[in-house]
Amino acid sequence: METKVILIEEEKISREAVGEAGKIIKNGGLVAFPTETVYGLGGNALDEKASEKIYRAKGRPSDNPLIVHICRIEDMYSIVKEVPEAAKKLADAFWPGPLTMILEKNEKIPYATTGGLDTVAVRMPAHKAALAFIDAAGGYVAAPSANRSGKPSPTLARYVMEDMDGRIDMIIDGGGNRIGLESTIVDLTEEVPLILRPGYITQEMLEKVLGRVETDRAVMQGDGGQAPKAPGMKYRHYSPEGELTIISGSEEKVVEEINRRSAEMKKRGEKVGIIGTDRTAAFYKGASVKSAGSREEEGSIARTLYRILREFDDEGITVIYSESFEEPAGGGIGQAIMNRLLKAAGYRIERI
Ligand code: AMP
Ligand code: MG
Repeated sequence: METKVILIEEEKISREAVGEAGKIIKNGGLVAFPTETVYGLGGNALDEKASEKIYRAKGRPSDNPLIVHICRIEDMYSIVKEVPEAAKKLADAFWPGPLTMILEKNEKIPYATTGGLDTVAVRMPAHKAALAFIDAAGGYVAAPSANRSGKPSPTLARYVMEDMDGRIDMIIDGGGNRIGLESTIVDLTEEVPLILRPGYITQEMLEKVLGRVETDRAVMQGDGGQAPKAPGMKYRHYSPEGELTIISGSEEKVVEEINRRSAEMKKRGEKVGIIGTDRTAAFYKGASVKSAGSREEEGSIARTLYRILREFDDEGITVIYSESFEEPAGGGIGQAIMNRLLKAAGYRIERI
């Protein structure tokens, strides 16, 4: 299959291009598209054959459910059993935006889309090209991130191409994603709303709208003997080929320790990559050093992280050290950054 790439600018959306992409979905095909979080790999959410194709293209286990993307809040009503008060409030507050809600599905959504679950994940993305595309596609686009399973989520169309060329019908290139990490997932089928995956919308922001909200314990500490509730969280996603260790401590000590370990690894013939920040990058020596951005602007780190992990893979890096991006509990996108970094590191973090 030849994969066609089309360019769509968010501020200058071509009806014709969006129409062409929508038609592919209506005919049962697959289209990767930009959102504000990461690139999605879309198929018709109401067609089980399309969902099965998504799993095949990604090489993803089919018990790991997809997120149904909609372009109008009211469309949520036609795919779920019931819209609880909390879902109405959250949709009003955060949609379109980087928030995915888990609700009880109705018969319109096939089990192939939900990985056999009776619940469905729903999100309305904040990206004009995505919304126009979903509309043209019939209104319900099932989409996980557009990476091959085991690779970091793609934040540029180029990375979608690397993973999906020849496996899907079309890629809509909309440039870089504004956020760069996947959406927050909140489960509203529990008595107390439960965050299954942290993202740009934080627990604090959800609590302001709903009152009490909890975070799945598995989020920041790996399995810990307890199975995470979002099926996707049990797979070791986002892992770079190099073995990643996070070093946490005061900036000066961390730089020193990473330089020491890096020199040792080099002697052993390893190819070392280091993730620092704008402030520290210049102090690292003799390795492939990349700045994740500025600690003063966490958004820059969120946007850069997955690109760095991919670049290390391309460079054949075998050992990676990263600074830690821990920060006071409850604040900003830091928890989401740390959650993805910990997963990529297989939860290997050393405090010095
Ligand atoms: P991705 O967009 O690639 O990150 O994949 C979608 C994520 O949403 C995965 O982590 C899934 O496990 C999660 N997800 C989708 N549907 C559900 C659901 N019904 N219940 C819990 N988690 C879900
Ligand atoms: Mg994914």
